[in-house]
Amino acid sequence: MTAGSLRRMATRFVIIGGGPAGNSAATHAARLGAEVVLIESDVIGGAAHLWDCIPSKAMIATGSALTYVAHSEDMGLDVGRSEIDIDLLRTRLRGIENKLERSITELLTSQSVELVRGRATLLDAHTVRADTANGSREFHADIIVLCTGSRPRIPVWTAPDGVRVLTTRDAYPPPRIPEHLIVIGSGVTGVEFVHMFKSLGSEVTLIVSRQQVLPSKDPEVAAALEADFLARGVRLYKGARAIAIDVEGDDVIVRCDDGRSAKGSHALIAIGSMPNYETLNLDALGVATRDGYVVVDHNLKSTVPNIYAAGDLSGKLPLSSVASMQGRKIAEHAMGVHVRPHRHLDYDKAASAIFTEPEIADVGLAEADAFAIGRKIRVTKVPFSASARALIDGDARGFVKLISDPMTGVVLGGSIVGRHAAELISVIALAVTAGLTVVDLDESLFVHPALSEALAEAAQ
Ligand SMILES: Cc1cc2nc3c(=O)[nH]c(=O)nc-3n(C[C@H](O)[C@H](O)[C@H](O)COP(=O)(O)OP(=O)(O)OC[C@H]3O[C@@H](n4cnc5c(N)ncnc54)[C@H](O)[C@@H]3O)c2cc1C
Repeated sequence: MTAGSLRRMATRFVIIGGGPAGNSAATHAARLGAEVVLIESDVIGGAAHLWDCIPSKAMIATGSALTYVAHSEDMGLDVGRSEIDIDLLRTRLRGIENKLERSITELLTSQSVELVRGRATLLDAHTVRADTANGSREFHADIIVLCTGSRPRIPVWTAPDGVRVLTTRDAYPPPRIPEHLIVIGSGVTGVEFVHMFKSLGSEVTLIVSRQQVLPSKDPEVAAALEADFLARGVRLYKGARAIAIDVEGDDVIVRCDDGRSAKGSHALIAIGSMPNYETLNLDALGVATRDGYVVVDHNLKSTVPNIYAAGDLSGKLPLSSVASMQGRKIAEHAMGVHVRPHRHLDYDKAASAIFTEPEIADVGLAEADAFAIGRKIRVTKVPFSASARALIDGDARGFVKLISDPMTGVVLGGSIVGRHAAELISVIALAVTAGLTVVDLDESLFVHPALSEALAEAAQ
């Protein structure tokens, strides 16, 4: 099929939501010759750029800079004291957001994607209405892609005020750095906020409903993070579920189901997310949902044949990287074109990272999961304390753990705790996706001195 014949078919996509899923679906569909309308009610780039991935990592980067300065003597420097300027920090965050919004908008418009600012709702399986500042517009669609994302889940027992009781969306940055922040929720988001505010100078208490922070992660990895938190003075309330938050004068008190309570200046709720589906009119159209997430098949098609869903709304793996890949897969599937040999998305092979210090990243099969299913594996572990580069950088915490098949040597997964883990994990992710073996890794000529040498060593 040629690009010319695709263009003559002019399949019309209407995509709702301009986050990673929607942007990716739009650019790929447009490249494949579709006419594309993208409707976004807020900011192009989505929650990912406005509230989630980008501002959180930008705040963490500022915290890291502060930590480097505080430890500058270790690097042979005397740079004096430094402190946070909240206005400068706010300007920095808005600057990053604006630049990213501009570059995505340019990319979309360069592909002739029509951008519509407004809130979309489905009138029928082929008609979408956008309520814009200048009134309503209706669009005919051959293909509809729902990419409306998610928002923070708020428990029924509290009502965040955005000042003392915060959701993750109130934190970029809050009006002042909390003297003592109580973080409720010890999943990926919770621990990133613990690290962020601890680096920015807050006292932090973490309410952990189970006995392990990061309950879904490899226990050894979680233990490394927990040890770091304790060494930095983070207070952990383990096995405690928050059930109420009271603001009393200057104090915020979080009460737990085991009778304990934590007193601080602010509380932050990080207990997961819920899908943005309510305004889409899905029930009336017969688009099946489960707990608000659109039920999709392996091609991300909903129960209505021309309606797809991607990103957080699809209820799969809530990661930006996954959302983007889903968007691309939908464009290719709906256009009947696969630009490469086709592979279904394998969520078990998605790399993910936690931007704490040390960073944590993993991909593929975890040691505990292999144990649970009785699969024989070979586990090799190399600490960064033996890495020349880690010593040069002044941070030799952490390790690389590589999981492979003992018979074939095929790399099945791995975890990394340590500096730049989020970057280093890509090597293992590539090995897992491409079916490479430990010999492939071991015989690769990596740079010296570099942290990646630990990967080759783990492969020996
Ligand atoms: C604090 C935090 C940090 C995170 N950090 C990372 C990270 O480091 N790496 C990572 O991979 N993932 C991270 N995530 C997850 C990531 O942000 C999400 O998986 C990703 O944003 C999902 O993309 P999406 O396209 O589905 O939706 P979103 O990014 O949520 O975008 C959806 C868009 O749809 C719009 N919209 C909603 N309803 C309508 C409507 N009716 N009409 C028009 N527009 C509508 C919204 O305004 C929004 O812009 C983080 C999440 C959180 C909460």
